Amino acid sequence: MSLFLPKPSLFSPNHKPLISNLTKFSTTITNTLSTMGQKKILRGVVFDMDGTLTVPVIDFQAMYKAVLGEEEYISIKSQSPTGIDILHHIESWTPEKQKIAYQTITDYERQGLDRLQIMPGAKELCGFLDSKQIRRGLITRNIKEAVDLFHLRFGIVFSPALSREFRPYKPSPDPLRHICSTWEVHPNEVMMIGDSLKDDVACGKCAGAFTCLLDETGRYDSTSFATADLNPDFKVSSLVEILSLLEANFELKP
Ligand SMILES: [Mg+2]
Repeated sequence: MSLFLPKPSLFSPNHKPLISNLTKFSTTITNTLSTMGQKKILRGVVFDMDGTLTVPVIDFQAMYKAVLGEEEYISIKSQSPTGIDILHHIESWTPEKQKIAYQTITDYERQGLDRLQIMPGAKELCGFLDSKQIRRGLITRNIKEAVDLFHLRFGIVFSPALSREFRPYKPSPDPLRHICSTWEVHPNEVMMIGDSLKDDVACGKCAGAFTCLLDETGRYDSTSFATADLNPDFKVSSLVEILSLLEANFELKP
């Protein structure tokens, strides 16, 4: 790359100010170039719902035990260091057994809905994204009823908002790709934010999006999660941190 800086005249009668102006000019260019080199364009953010936009209220361990039974739960848990994918496990069951399992899961989810609370920082983050005209989407493995209630109760709407009725669900990249194509935005200009490494980060990475893991309690600090292909681009312990993270690393474009 060549830069066309004004040449200083050796015969300039006003030598000092010219040098000073030149320094200012080239510093501006250097700053702009480094900004262009570092900052990536971001046009949309896609959120997970449970444990990301809402405070976790579903007792997942109890739900898994109720669906799988104590023995199978222990066996599956020991083979799944990043967490149990309950929906995936029951997919191979007989239709009868599946029906009972889905009913148990739905019961737990409904109990969770009664105690639904918005995650601290979620409203502020959404307000910030709105002020920058950045798109907001949602992908959850929960049911549509839960998304509808979330929209209604907190008055923040995400569009598109895909629940588990959209198949295949996370960790498949398909729901995120679907949102990107609806927005007519490339996945590499979108960020997926969620509290699950195996669902949200996996989905985001596979789609080619930026990923941000919300780890409130530091549960992912353990080295057992250091799987190279599941490394999120960013990790935060609160949604509040995301505002400055976005401003520092991205050029936010409608
Ligand atoms: Mg979650």
